[in-house]
Amino acid sequence: MLDTTFFRRWMSATAAAVEREAGRLTELDSAIGDADHGSNMQRGFAAVTAVLEKEAPQTPGAVLALSGRHLISTVGGASGPLYGTLLRRTGKALGDAAEVSREQLADALRAGVAAVAQLGGAQAGDKTMLDALEPAAAALGESFAAAREAADEGAVATVPMLARKGRASYLGERSIGHQDPGATSSALLIAALEEAAR
Ligand code: ADP
Ligand code: MG
Ligand code: MG
Repeated sequence: MLDTTFFRRWMSATAAAVEREAGRLTELDSAIGDADHGSNMQRGFAAVTAVLEKEAPQTPGAVLALSGRHLISTVGGASGPLYGTLLRRTGKALGDAAEVSREQLADALRAGVAAVAQLGGAQAGDKTMLDALEPAAAALGESFAAAREAADEGAVATVPMLARKGRASYLGERSIGHQDPGATSSALLIAALEEAAR
């Protein structure tokens, strides 16, 4: 079973990965966006780290809901409300249980991903974070490792796609041939989930 400590480890492993990979995320965003995805994610997850230390939420759902709220309030870019919604909705779906199973988390994450799709009006194949998150949420029903693999493959699969949402869509055909920054950071989020489970 996954307890509150597990969810805190997930968020802190994500913050560490974002710190480590911020340069790469910004580089990807400079090719098809406005070169701020790394700094947006750094600012957001630094705020998550700080608030989790200060407020010590007592359930898995509360860890994710609090993290999501702080992503929304600290990240100005498109990714803030989208990741914030992902974590808030996933947290809400976990309710106030003290521990949850991986299967329950997979169901909750699917609800979170659906909320992201609704908020952003995007679907799989549009070259967004959903291209990593959707397959990852589906594969999490099998294992953490399968989710990580699906997210990594989903991020790489955005390279040949034409962007249909977000800033990259302004480029039209010129968005083809570049990996989506948000799908790349989503793969970091899911890799951190597997790391927390080890
Ligand atoms: P901004 O584009 O506002 O500068 P970021 O650079 O932080 O924000 O995030 C860009 C990422 O957000 C994209 O790479 C993409 O994955 C994701 N994104 C943008 N718009 C949408 C959308 N409508 N639905 C889903 N994801 C989106
Ligand atoms: Mg950007
Ligand atoms: Mg921006």
